[in-house]
Amino acid sequence: MPELRTYRTQVHNDWCPGCGDFGIVNAIQMTLLEMQLEPHRVAVFSGIGCSGKTPHFINAYGFHTLHGRVLPIATGAALANPGLTVVAVGGDGDGLGIGAGHFVNTGRRNVDFTYVLYDNQVYGLTKGQASPTLPKGIKTKSMPTPSIVEGVNPIAMAVASGYTFVARSYALDVRHLKQILRAAIEHKGSAFVDVLQTCPTYNDINTKEWYSGDDLPTKAPRLYKLEETGFDGRVKDPTKAEEVNAKKGSALLKSFEWGDKIPVGIFFKTEFPTYMDQLAERMPVLKDKPFVEQDVYQRDVAPLFEELT
Ligand code: SF4
Repeated sequence: MPELRTYRTQVHNDWCPGCGDFGIVNAIQMTLLEMQLEPHRVAVFSGIGCSGKTPHFINAYGFHTLHGRVLPIATGAALANPGLTVVAVGGDGDGLGIGAGHFVNTGRRNVDFTYVLYDNQVYGLTKGQASPTLPKGIKTKSMPTPSIVEGVNPIAMAVASGYTFVARSYALDVRHLKQILRAAIEHKGSAFVDVLQTCPTYNDINTKEWYSGDDLPTKAPRLYKLEETGFDGRVKDPTKAEEVNAKKGSALLKSFEWGDKIPVGIFFKTEFPTYMDQLAERMPVLKDKPFVEQDVYQRDVAPLFEELT
């Protein structure tokens, strides 16, 4: 029986003290434990950045890939071996800057894996430059002047790209994050989780105190849970385009709430044939055995070469 330590490694962790990344890794490990997913059934891939070190700290398959390229790697693993629980992780700079094209096309394909975005609004590993999610006009401590470009909205991008599960949580609320991660992993299709993450070293605006609302006259926490407001982003009948579109519209509207109140929870969820389901329709051989079990070395390719010459 796996225990929490089953998912831990002995690799030295050099994240800054107080970094929100610790909360995310803990939540991933606790989710794997809760789901009793043994390490050999899990693969965790990462892009580049502080978050890129995640696979070093989780005892499972997986590796640290290239900048912005985690999603193609995770896609390949999920398609090759549908028996594997695939979790891709990366920062907002990695996923929505250089990796933005992959972000959009992964949503379109509806491949069955979970993408966890460590969203701290800066490029932490390279000393805190503005990342794509930093709003216009904000200046964090390593920037000489405020950002002059609009920030992107990861939730809106995910909904518009076709992800079939779109949610947000907070790195320092490990309990909530664990619930959301479990729902994302259990979802059959492309699941995206935007995790608001504190970077105490470079982002001195969106701090733990800021999320707690300490600067507000009301002192009320900025984060509120969608499910506690009656908001329900889940599509009941995915065959009804009107309902799907209406839920997408509600999710988009909610996703633009940012400031004194910030929603977390599930924004959108629907069922739709996965890329693998559709591939198996075209390639019946995949219905019996996934790619990973195909005996590719025994296959006679001579007829193929003859056909092509
Ligand atoms: Fe975490 Fe920021 Fe330090 Fe990176 S630079 S480890 S994101 S606190």
